[in-house]
Parts: sequence; C-alpha cells; structure tokens
Amino acid sequence: MDELRNKVKALLEAKTVNVVIGYEEGTGKKPRAVFAVKPEDAAKLIYDSRCVLNLAAYITKHEVKAKGKMAITATLPVMRSIIQLASEFQVNDNNLFVIGLTPDNQVIEFKNLAEVETFIHKFEISIDSKYKEALEKLDKMSRTDRWNWWINELAPCFKCYACRAACPMCYCHRCTVDFNQPQWIPVPSHELGNLEWHIMRAVHLTGRCIDCDACANACPLGIPINLLNKRLLEDAKKHFGGYQPMLKGDHLMSTFKPDDKENFIR
Ligand code: SF4
Ligand code: SF4
Repeated sequence: MDELRNKVKALLEAKTVNVVIGYEEGTGKKPRAVFAVKPEDAAKLIYDSRCVLNLAAYITKHEVKAKGKMAITATLPVMRSIIQLASEFQVNDNNLFVIGLTPDNQVIEFKNLAEVETFIHKFEISIDSKYKEALEKLDKMSRTDRWNWWINELAPCFKCYACRAACPMCYCHRCTVDFNQPQWIPVPSHELGNLEWHIMRAVHLTGRCIDCDACANACPLGIPINLLNKRLLEDAKKHFGGYQPMLKGDHLMSTFKPDDKENFIR
C-alpha cells in the first residue's frame, strides 16, 4: 500500500497530474472511488481484493475530465477498459497516466498506453468457470425455456441504470433509453421495455465489453445481465476468428470517428 500511496503523492506533488482516481475505504467495508487532488489525499488510497469497481467508468465523465490530466490506479479489468477506450478515441497519452495494479500485487508506472496494451495482452480474457457453467446450462435449454428464463430474470428490472453507470463502455452523453422524442425504449418496467433495454445494451457492448462484471455487481436486484455480455463475447470469439476487444483499430460492430456529426456519441 505504501508504494502505491508514495507514487500517487509524488505525482500530485510534482503536478504531473491534477487528479488521481483510486479506491478508498467506503461504508459497509465496500471500497469506493476516490479522486485525490492534493498530495495528502494519497493517504486515503487502498488496494485489495475487494476493489472490483471498474474505475475506468469515471475517465469519460465530464466532471472528472474537467480537472485536466488524470492518473488512474488500474487493475487488469481497468487496464483492459482503458485500452478499449483508447481504441475508441476516448483517452490518450496526453490526458491519462496509468498506475497498474497487477494480479501479483505489483505497482507499475506505465510510461504510455502502448506499454499498458502490451502488458494486458499477456492475460487473455477468460470467462470464469461459474459463468461458463451458467452459459452451458442456458445453451442446453430449448429456445422457449431459454426465452422464458430471460423474461423471468429481467422482469424485476426497474431501470435504475446503475449497470449503465458502472460500465466504462457506456459513455454516450445521451443514451438511447433517455430519448423521449421519439421514445424508442419504453420507460416503465414491463416485459417488452425490459427486453428492449437489455438487448439494446448487450448489442451496443458487443465486441467492446471487456468482461469486468461491474454491471452485474452494480445491480441492486442481482440480475445476471453480464451473462448476456459473456454469451456475445464467446460468440464473437468463436465466429469472428478469435475476435477480442481491446485491439486498436479492430472493431467488431462499430466505427469510431472523432469527427462524427452526432455529438452525443463522441
Ligand atoms: S462486464 Fe458489464 S460493466 Fe464490464 S465492460 Fe462488460 S458490460 Fe460493461
Ligand atoms: S442495475 Fe439492475 S435494475 Fe438497474 S437497470 Fe440495470 S439491470 Fe435493471
């Protein structure tokens, strides 16, 4: 912990960055995000196995971007998110400095995002066995049973959008579900609206989701929405020549143009 705190303190003292996004102790023994702006804030930082919140979700928030150059303490899923975001022109070496927290508890100061990219490609995304079992169980069901299973699982969703807020890849300024003229996705919690929201969400994340589980962890109702993302991750790999997210310039279902005329998706 001291090594991490000392590095963050040095970065803020030298004014190399204006803010460092990290983890601090939260309520109920649940770590939460902290935005360190003064060298003394570094003392609040923690890092242990409870730190599963994907901090990369904050990089694209305008309140954080407004602070100027930022650093982030990045676990493997956070590093994966950063490289995917870089491939979508959301971050670059001029606005982000990465302090890696490696699976073997090392703290690495990366010189640039190319180094982060080289590092993460040593660790291929591998779906956890408990989720693989759940996917296999679903695959074995008849279409009708699988349909009914999802209708039933998604039924309690009351569209709080905590899953969207927790996901680093859901950064559009205005999400499709927020439009009301026309209203493409019904707001009330009912079967059609819930299905449309979750299918739309999963498809928009196909080829971009880096399998961090932050969406499912954020859901107050414990709805296993990450299973939809995992199914699409596996299908993309199987049907598109071993496709994986985080490969620069290699997008499966989308194109990313910084000069796109639609402001809300930049
Ligand atoms: S697992 Fe969920 S939160 Fe993480 S990138 Fe995929 S969709 Fe987003
Ligand atoms: S966090 Fe859960 S309840 Fe809220 S919108 Fe997402 S799936 Fe629905």
